[in-house]
Amino acid sequence: MGPLPGRIARLEYMVKELLLELEEVKKLARSLEEENEKLRRQLTDAYSSYCDEKVRKSNDTEGGSEDSTLLRLYNEGFHICNVKFAQVREGECLFCLGLLRRQGDNEVGVK
Ligand SMILES: [Zn+2]
Repeated sequence: MGPLPGRIARLEYMVKELLLELEEVKKLARSLEEENEKLRRQLTDAYSSYCDEKVRKSNDTEGGSEDSTLLRLYNEGFHICNVKFAQVREGECLFCLGLLRRQGDNEVGVK
């Protein structure tokens, strides 16, 4: 431990460095959030256009493949419920599970 003025100067320097780093991390977090939002929108768009196509095709065929698409999305770690659709899922989601169960799918993977 040096004399008090030296310690104060050193602490001031460290605080300034920390603030600079904090700004950088905040900038990074913001850009990741934006990218995440963009990806979520793309996924939602892709999924809804997929569903539109499904509806158009389901006039001639009865297929259960929409169920497996939802299941796949869920197992890949995304929400498929209305509450948080296409958002990254952390752990089990009761809304998603309820949706899958209603569709009679028992193959939900447990993470
Ligand atoms: Zn969910």
